[in-house]
Amino acid sequence: MASLSLKHINKTYPNGYEAVKDFNLEIEDKEFIIFVGPSGCGKSTTLRMIAGLEDITGGELYIGDTKMNDVDPKDRDIAMVFQNYALYPHMTVYDNMAFGLKLRKVPKDQIDKMVREAAKILDLEPLLDRKPKALSGGQRQRVAMGRAIVRDPKVFLMDEPLSNLDAKLRGQMRVEISRLHQRLGTTIIYVTHDQTEAMTLGTRIVVMNGGIVQQVDTPQVLYDK
Ligand code: ADP
Ligand code: ADP
Repeated sequence: MASLSLKHINKTYPNGYEAVKDFNLEIEDKEFIIFVGPSGCGKSTTLRMIAGLEDITGGELYIGDTKMNDVDPKDRDIAMVFQNYALYPHMTVYDNMAFGLKLRKVPKDQIDKMVREAAKILDLEPLLDRKPKALSGGQRQRVAMGRAIVRDPKVFLMDEPLSNLDAKLRGQMRVEISRLHQRLGTTIIYVTHDQTEAMTLGTRIVVMNGGIVQQVDTPQVLYDK
C-alpha cells in the first residue's frame, strides 16, 4: 500500500496564482522522495499542503487509506523540518524538542523518554540545556530534526534542510540524514537544489517546473547518462 498518495493536487493561491497543477504521485512506505526544480516551481507549496500548513484547493491527499485534505496538521502523523530551523529562541534544546508533545498533552515522563531517545540518536544529549543561540548551525539543524523525530511521524518533510550549512557540514549531515532514514524506517520527502543530495539520498526524484511534475525517476535514470 502506498504510504502517501497525491491525486490531482492543485494549489491556487487566493490571489489567483496557480502554483501547483495536477500533481500526481504514489509514494511507498520508506521511500526517500526528492523534489527538485527551479525556484518558484511549487516545491515548498506542495510540501506545505502535505503538512497541512496550506489549504489544498483541488485533488485529494491520502496517508494510507485516510483522506487528509481537511485533517489538522497536528493530527497528520507528519513532521516537517524547515531550512530556517524555526527553533524557539527563548527555550532550551530540551524544551524545543518537548514543546509539540506538551501541546499534545503527552504525559511528562513519556515526553522525557521520547526527548532523550531522540537526543541520543542525534548526539544532542550534551546540549539539552542550551538555548539555540549557543549552538552551531549544524547543531541547530540537528535540534530541528530532533523536534521532528520526537513526533515519531510516519512521514518526514524536509525543505532544503541543509541549505544554510557550509559544504563540509552539509556533507556530514547528508550522511546523518541517510542513517536516520535507515534507522527510523520512515518515508521522507526532501526538497533540495543540491544534485549530490538528490543522487545520494533519493530513491526517486520528482522534477518540477512551473507547478507541473515533469518527470519522476530514480537517480540512476535521471543523472547517470
Ligand atoms: P519553490 O518552493 O519551488 O521555490 P514555492 O512553492 O515556494 O516554490 O512557490 C511557488 C509559486 O507560488 C511561486 O511563484 C511563488 O511566488 C508563489 N507563491 C508562494 N506563496 C504564495 C502566496 N501566499 N500567494 C501567492 N503566490 C504564492
Ligand atoms: P511542534 O511542531 O513544535 O512539534 P506542534 O505540532 O504542536 O508542535 O505545532 C506547533 C507548530 O508547528 C504549529 O503552530 C504549526 O504551525 C506547526 N506544525 C504543526 N504540525 C505540523 C506538521 N505536521 N508539520 C510541520 N509543522 C507543523
